[in-house]
Amino acid sequence: MNRIKANGKEVYDMLAKHLTINENEFSPMIALNKNKNPFSILVSIILSQNTTDKNAIRAYNNLYEKTKLDINNIMNLSVDELSEIIRVAGLPKQKSRSIIELAKFIKGKGEQYLIEKDPLELKKELMEIPGIGEKTCDVFLSFFREFPVFPVDTHIKRIALRWGLSDKKSYKDISNALMDFFGKELSRNAHKLMITFGRSYCKSKKPRCHECFLKEICPSAQV
Ligand code: SF4
Repeated sequence: MNRIKANGKEVYDMLAKHLTINENEFSPMIALNKNKNPFSILVSIILSQNTTDKNAIRAYNNLYEKTKLDINNIMNLSVDELSEIIRVAGLPKQKSRSIIELAKFIKGKGEQYLIEKDPLELKKELMEIPGIGEKTCDVFLSFFREFPVFPVDTHIKRIALRWGLSDKKSYKDISNALMDFFGKELSRNAHKLMITFGRSYCKSKKPRCHECFLKEICPSAQV
């Protein structure tokens, strides 16, 4: 596979020039702006698994209204009760179990733990909670801890492969390839720009290659 004909900084500058990041379309940013506590950010990321940010945000707002995202309030709910509140986000039982287990974990350690613990050790511990995987942890570390990791969702995977940045499809390979390409400094914003780009131009089924500002340098351009 050919590779995109520009370096990470040049591609970043083109993305930044042509796109506007709307923070209201990113569920972790809504949580960050509303609550500013790490538990609520993690909950918002769990809610966004396998669904659109729009539905995740609706579920998050429902949950906020009912519980104020208070750990004790959430631990007092049964899986069924919590499922009803977050149903719009999909996989309600699975997500409810994860959120309740997360609440128990944080209750035991204290919320500061999510702020102060070594990021990679924290990631290992969080991944022991059912329903919390690598991507959920990386989004948290990137958005909240500003730690240099590159979370890979479906938009980002698709674009990275179309740009020829990785010939392997595993999460780790693509995440590492993107980090090498953009570098640590740009990774956090590049992540948001790529999602915005995947939603607006480099769509899954019908990429808008004819109108795309990267068509001259993209190895997958269909023009
Ligand atoms: S030219 Fe097409 S495939 Fe390449 S980045 Fe643009 S929209 Fe995606």
